[in-house]
Amino acid sequence: MRTRFAPSPNGPLHLGHAYAAIVAHDTAKARDGEFILRIEDIDGERNRPEFVEEFFRDLAWLGLEWDGEAVFQSHRLASHASAGEQLKAMGLLYPCTCTRAEIAAAATQVGPDGPVYPGTCRHREVDPENAAWRLDVTKAMTLTGPLEWRDEGAGSQAATPQIFGDVVLLRKDLPASYHLAVTLDDATDGVTLVTRGMDLFPASHVHRLLQALLGLPVPTWLHHPLLIEKDGRKLAKRRGAPSLADRRRAGEDGRAVAMALREGRFPAGLSLSQGVHQAP
Ligand code: GLU
Repeated sequence: MRTRFAPSPNGPLHLGHAYAAIVAHDTAKARDGEFILRIEDIDGERNRPEFVEEFFRDLAWLGLEWDGEAVFQSHRLASHASAGEQLKAMGLLYPCTCTRAEIAAAATQVGPDGPVYPGTCRHREVDPENAAWRLDVTKAMTLTGPLEWRDEGAGSQAATPQIFGDVVLLRKDLPASYHLAVTLDDATDGVTLVTRGMDLFPASHVHRLLQALLGLPVPTWLHHPLLIEKDGRKLAKRRGAPSLADRRRAGEDGRAVAMALREGRFPAGLSLSQGVHQAP
């Protein structure tokens, strides 16, 4: 079996990331499996390469070793693009030029990531040059039929990707979006157990659909609770959670920090709900 930790270098790691990495690492090691590190560095605008070296140091400081070389999502853009072409050829993607503001104004439902895209461009002539490409989720589900996936904590789930509406799979500036890239890369990396925070639980409905459409192996999932602040909100860098790098430079013992998290000694607590997701 194989797990992974897949941080995005758009900010420093904090305790919440340390917890995610420990869950992935310890679960693999307890089952005689492998733990790999994947740097999800395709978001050109927000990506800061200098964080990557810091991530390596943070993980070493926590006492977490990954198996093999770290892999970089940005090296896989060609395979993302060809999966995108495959989905277009299947007639499942359509171009969309709506702005966030237009979507917010037209939406009648709120999904896990905010206003649900109401399908404005689904049957509209749109210049594909400057467009993002969305998955026609209803059409895709008709093709696959009902799908299931399993979370080790929450058990068997009927896939309901329609809660997001027609998600973007190819961004204007990239041959992938988070949903497409993470699903393809987990398959490429042979990940058999996807561990990550509860905030991404709903996203797994979409990933299960993509696996079915693209003929990818289906892993099991383990969504872990999230570290929260005293006010109950998800720990976040932008709300001042100290980074692991700050703690490291201040001379804290990283292995002791990791041990405290393993023993359930959290600064404020854990949230078991899926409802603390904040769109990036
Ligand atoms: N790269 C994502 C993040 O840092 C995590 C992806 C995942 O675990 O599925 O939020």
